[in-house]
Amino acid sequence: MSRIEFDLIDWLRTQVAGRKEVPLGIGDDGALLELDPHTAVIVTDMLLDGVHFDLKTVPPFLAGRKALAVNLSDIAAMGAEAVAAFVSVAIPKGAGSKFAHEVHQGIMNLAAQYNVVLAGGDTNTWSGPFVVNVAVVGQVKKGREFRRSAGKSGDLLLVTGALGGSITGRHLTFEPCLKEASWLQAWGHVHATIDVSDGLAADLHHVAKESGVRAVVDESAIPVHPDAAGSTLTERRVSAVSDGEDFELLFSIPADSRESLFGSWPFSRALTVIGELDIGAGCFWRHPDGSQSPMLPQGWVHEF
Ligand code: ADP
Ligand code: MG
Repeated sequence: MSRIEFDLIDWLRTQVAGRKEVPLGIGDDGALLELDPHTAVIVTDMLLDGVHFDLKTVPPFLAGRKALAVNLSDIAAMGAEAVAAFVSVAIPKGAGSKFAHEVHQGIMNLAAQYNVVLAGGDTNTWSGPFVVNVAVVGQVKKGREFRRSAGKSGDLLLVTGALGGSITGRHLTFEPCLKEASWLQAWGHVHATIDVSDGLAADLHHVAKESGVRAVVDESAIPVHPDAAGSTLTERRVSAVSDGEDFELLFSIPADSRESLFGSWPFSRALTVIGELDIGAGCFWRHPDGSQSPMLPQGWVHEF
């Protein structure tokens, strides 16, 4: 164990608050989680300098924050509560101990906000670029998880927030939809759920395929974020559905639950009905004249 690693781990131990589900966290060979009677939900996402952020312009604090936030977005999409995070970092040699501390500070600030315990990880240095992998363990009542496959013909399709242009900054600073997901969990009528990470068009295809339904989206209903790119409305809609990294929730509900949802939604985050699920397969746009055309699954695809 290097000096940097030793100092970092010692410092982390002084920073981490506990919670009852985590009787043993950083400091032993493994962490212990007591989730009974819940089901554990495990998510993991790896972020690379130069791909998911660029340290030439992005402070290490925000790179760390994003690494946890994208995982919390997946926990939210499962309808779960986040409990513990595990952080593995490959630190470029020479980046220094301040860099490692700032990355972890970004992670821990967000973790504290959502009562997530940093319960372990691994620290390495190497000659390559900065890499950070976060795994989060969440919990959900048995049988109550939100699945992509739970959409039903006749459902309304909804999305939270507004979409597009997150690369201009929101991909680093977004609030994961944990509170909204927890509220939807208690509300109790949610069918399919996914978080919008690759772009609405791409992610909706996952819902349609896994649920075995046809999805129809009203072109004019897409909530376009002011940051979306383009000078015409059409260009801005393309940006909204294909840029990705919005980390909003895309979900379906039975049509007769609409009033109950809108009548009690307590958040300032917008909620928009964008279309519906139907018998069949694939994803389609409905244009203002009522005609339909296939929706391409365009969106952010990681290149190798
Ligand atoms: P081992 O050699 O047994 O794998 P380590 O020395 O790697 O143990 O880690 C010691 C403790 O510090 C473990 O509890 C581990 O989970 C934790 N840890 C190491 N690196 C990190 C990190 N970057 N963030 C959080 N916890 C870490
Ligand atoms: Mg280790």
